[in-house]
Amino acid sequence: MSASSVLQQAAQHAVDYLQAIDKQPIRTSASLSELRRRLGRELPEHGVPAIEVIDDLVADAAGGILGSGSGRFYGWVIGGSLPVALAADWLTSTWDQNAASNVTAPAEAVVEEIAGAWLKHILNLPDEASFAFVTGCQMAHTTAFAAARHHLLQQRGWDVEVKGLQGAPNIRVLTSENRHESILRAVRLLGLGTEAVTYVASDSEGRMDPGALDAALSGPADRATIVSLQAGDLNTGVFDVFKALCPIARKHEAWVHVDGAFGLWAAASPRYRHLLEGVEQANSWATDGHKWLNLPFDSGFVFVAEPAAHRAAFSQATSYAVPLEDLRNQKDWNPEWSRRGRGFAAYAALRHLGRLGVQDLVERCCDHACRLVESIAALEGAEALAHPVINQGLVRFLSPDGDHDRRTDEVIAALQSSGDVWFGGVTWQGKRAMRISVCNWLTTDADIDRTIEVVRRVLREMSRPSI
Ligand SMILES: *Cc1c(COP(=O)(O)O)cnc(C)c1O
Repeated sequence: MSASSVLQQAAQHAVDYLQAIDKQPIRTSASLSELRRRLGRELPEHGVPAIEVIDDLVADAAGGILGSGSGRFYGWVIGGSLPVALAADWLTSTWDQNAASNVTAPAEAVVEEIAGAWLKHILNLPDEASFAFVTGCQMAHTTAFAAARHHLLQQRGWDVEVKGLQGAPNIRVLTSENRHESILRAVRLLGLGTEAVTYVASDSEGRMDPGALDAALSGPADRATIVSLQAGDLNTGVFDVFKALCPIARKHEAWVHVDGAFGLWAAASPRYRHLLEGVEQANSWATDGHKWLNLPFDSGFVFVAEPAAHRAAFSQATSYAVPLEDLRNQKDWNPEWSRRGRGFAAYAALRHLGRLGVQDLVERCCDHACRLVESIAALEGAEALAHPVINQGLVRFLSPDGDHDRRTDEVIAALQSSGDVWFGGVTWQGKRAMRISVCNWLTTDADIDRTIEVVRRVLREMSRPSI
């Protein structure tokens, strides 16, 4: 069986999928039981020809692929895939390099060095920061917190890599109620436990209150502390005020981490860069490639201002993997051992877009998000709950009977089932809301026009008295 025929077949399916993405319903149409029935074939005793496996997979999965790559998908913070990044991702799988080390994947190691430097430049982070290409922001947090744990405990004479946490000085984490759940999972994975987390009060916009942080840090001296701040709240896009908060944390010798899963990309735009003022004073930063940079999934980036702590938390000597001396050895910085070469897709996307292309992508998405929130809020029976600071915002729908929560969920369900657009729901400050996130390179002005029309139509249909 030739490799080329099954690969060409798969490439054709991929191209067909992408060409139809604008015409296909965005919602899924197959139930889970239907998918289980179709895909739940018997494990064959003798194998099935490769082309047949691929053709069947495409047919069986049909209706079970959520159209989150569509330009009219506004759920969560998902992002699409730039064709150039997808192409590089295909090559990544083709080359099948083990990116654990620079011996098994020399070109990938070099590409990570270059893309790592490019990312620091675009995100306006210190040149000296170390970095790692990880699976996503969740593992970026976990990697950063491992570096923080090393640093804080080493300062207190405790070698956590050798002694572990039993009997170690306590580490606490100060963050705000708006933190993403992935912060808590990083705390759990590192053995700190969620009881180590204390929530610091925020202002009415959800930004951590500097006075409250100062007070929280002013307790008994010498408590090892990680302050976890946020660049870009999931619902409103709000940013913690780094220029006020970082100096306070520094004064108390706390480690400052920044969750900038999507918000860190505001640095690429002169219009939004001011939101990040002071962020360079943090000790670690986490962001995603698979959200706003529009890389395929499995792409997060972490940067650490204390490279020695970062390396100490991960480096592991083996007799069989002798590193090339003058090249960064990836697994000294990554939580994984064997892994795919995530650098290629990032490198390809950054080179294709250029600095100005990233700026344009960020600004376009923010413009689209603003127009969506404002135009939907202007429709009869709708209102804005949060105007986007960058690319995320909230609206809700009003019911004559006062049950706006129910009404909002009904409108979201009707919009999803239209197949033309996709929005998700969230409870924010006690109210049900429809979240609007724009971070796909594909979204056009025409998509926004069409989306507003769909919302108008659905609201009109829903307000007709039922017979
Ligand atoms: C998506 C997101 C995360 C988690 O990132 P993953 O890439 O899904 O691991 C963390 N924080 C924020 C603010 C996010 O939007």
